[in-house]
Amino acid sequence: MPETFKTTCCYCGVGCGVLVHKQQNGKIWVEGDKDHPVNKGMLCSKGMNLHYTVMDTSDRLLYPEVRYNKYSPRQRATWEEALNRTAAAFAAIIQRFGPEAVAFYASGQCLTEEYYVVNKLIKGFIGSNNLDTNSRLCMSSAVAAYKLALGEDIVPGCYDDIELTDCIFIAGANPAWCHPILWRRIEAAKAARPDLVIIVSDPRVTQTCALATVHLQVTPGTDIVLHHAIGRLLLEQGMTDFSFIRDHTEGFDAYQKAVMQRSVAEAALICGIAEADLIQAAGYIGRSERFMTLWTMGLNQSAIGVHKNLSLINLHLITGTIGKPGCGPFSLTGQPNAMGGREVGGLANLLPAHRDLGNPQHRKEVQEFWGGTTIEENPGLTATQMFEGLRNGTLKAIWIMGTNPLVSMPDVRMAEEGLRNARFVVVQEVSNKPETLAYADVVLPAAAWTEKEGTMTNAERRISYLPRLTTPPGEALPDAEILCRFAQKMGYHGFDYKNMEEIYREHARLTAGTHIDITPLTYDTIRHHRTIQWPYTEEGAATGTKRLFTDQQFYTPSGRARIHAFGDDNVSEPVTPDYPLVLTTGRIRDHWHTMSKTGKVNKLKQHISSPFLEMHPHDAAERDIQMDDVVEITNRLGSVQVKVKITDSVKKGLVFLPMHWGKLFGNDLSRANNLTHTLLDPISKQPDFKFSAVQVTRY
Ligand code: SF4
Repeated sequence: MPETFKTTCCYCGVGCGVLVHKQQNGKIWVEGDKDHPVNKGMLCSKGMNLHYTVMDTSDRLLYPEVRYNKYSPRQRATWEEALNRTAAAFAAIIQRFGPEAVAFYASGQCLTEEYYVVNKLIKGFIGSNNLDTNSRLCMSSAVAAYKLALGEDIVPGCYDDIELTDCIFIAGANPAWCHPILWRRIEAAKAARPDLVIIVSDPRVTQTCALATVHLQVTPGTDIVLHHAIGRLLLEQGMTDFSFIRDHTEGFDAYQKAVMQRSVAEAALICGIAEADLIQAAGYIGRSERFMTLWTMGLNQSAIGVHKNLSLINLHLITGTIGKPGCGPFSLTGQPNAMGGREVGGLANLLPAHRDLGNPQHRKEVQEFWGGTTIEENPGLTATQMFEGLRNGTLKAIWIMGTNPLVSMPDVRMAEEGLRNARFVVVQEVSNKPETLAYADVVLPAAAWTEKEGTMTNAERRISYLPRLTTPPGEALPDAEILCRFAQKMGYHGFDYKNMEEIYREHARLTAGTHIDITPLTYDTIRHHRTIQWPYTEEGAATGTKRLFTDQQFYTPSGRARIHAFGDDNVSEPVTPDYPLVLTTGRIRDHWHTMSKTGKVNKLKQHISSPFLEMHPHDAAERDIQMDDVVEITNRLGSVQVKVKITDSVKKGLVFLPMHWGKLFGNDLSRANNLTHTLLDPISKQPDFKFSAVQVTRY
């Protein structure tokens, strides 16, 4: 009889419960966990095929590898040799150039314990804040906006609100493909209550639009114009909650002035939508007692991403639809543990338990707790800044964990130049596929999903425990263990943990008294209850906290939520006669990020097997481009060559390219990020992936 274990899907931030059945011969297969509160037995195509990613070890890194100079090939090494070499190189660079000369670039796929250890290592002992993760590319704009509006990086609601709400506004997201199980819950809610209103704003007609009551096919970059116009209509038509605004918010007067700057007709024109549709959408929102917003990359990956987020959150603050069942602004996390990473401070501007580097009291608390070196005040380099730093020589060494920046980084050829110029590169990785390996001085083989123990937090603040169920191939080790061994080689104390739970307990102790307090939460408690939503402060309680701000007390100094006012200009690179089209990048249903996992599952390759460009028929006709022609997409940064799909599902003037493909057949001409640039949101430092000026020609 196979044994059955409970774990959590390692792909997206939905955080579905998975049952892993394990035979005596070690083979595993998976099914959805019917008792799990998130997915209730369902899994999407990626989740259903998880076992193939574990069972097929043909692409796995099995042994550490080291090279002693840039001109020699890497050779197999023992862990001792690899970590000695790494520690010696890091120590020498730190001694010569200072701690700011080294950096760690990690992943939203890391477990919380791994994030905790790497954060403690660099900020608490090396003395640099140069730790960032690919979550910077994903949702840092939402993080900043939550902090600015609510006083804390907190998703106030929960998935159960989907079944309770009257109206869902999905802004710049395609959950039907990117958060499929959450989408099935929305489909089920709509089937049960056909009067549930679903508003979608997206320049593309996606699968999500199939269920939309209203689809606002906005011109790229106009989200703030749209949200402000909705705000204006709500105000003009008396569909706001004035007692909530008066008693629980601040900043309303300036907001009112800001949204009155444009007429609704003008806003509709700028957004490229019918005024009647805009008015209808605002009417639906205004008449709904319970109103939710869901969003992801369409708002976040923008040079004005924080303001886009705030303009959406503002709609909740003027309608008082927050802290109540069926209500609230809900940022959908892309990765499985982006939230867990932030809980332990795993970004260049954070400290554990959502403390801020810029706050002297926070630095003092963490420094005393860790007992290491002085924690520096200034934020470290963020994701793109690290690769720019390598390129210009201010950063000398980088340690890349579980992510493939040579597909996912904007202006990826700049990132390549950075790695080429680096003095020392460590790649800690599961797969032998990532392009980063070509630049690695040291390769450290890491354990994968089911091969290591730890916790993750999904998009609704739900912490899950993931057991170790299988043995890593070769000499691969859990990421946290690799980092702890390295820290000990560096002579740092406080990294001799006996097991993962000791790391987790240390992290939990640091949350005491904060808004994300999980002090009494143990591995046993999580295992017993399957999952728990933070904060969790009552020892032995069966549940955590489903909703926050139910008392309308926000985490700002005044206790009031802040309504922010700002203009609506898009600051993206403008289109020009040479580059007249807007390129937006995104995901497809069956692939995940840079395909190091999904790319080895045949079933997942069948849905869409090769990269493509979506283009509007009008733009194609203007260029004499026919369906399936190979086209060249160019801009000042580079080019991409793919087949074209002519479709009116993209707005005229917009082209869409999936972001998953890196090098195909030895060349990099399918790589979308050859064309994206490193323009950043000034607050969140999130890149402007969704708006690059390009030209398309028949190849
Ligand atoms: Fe995994 Fe996300 Fe699919 Fe759920 S929706 S099975 S978490 S990929």
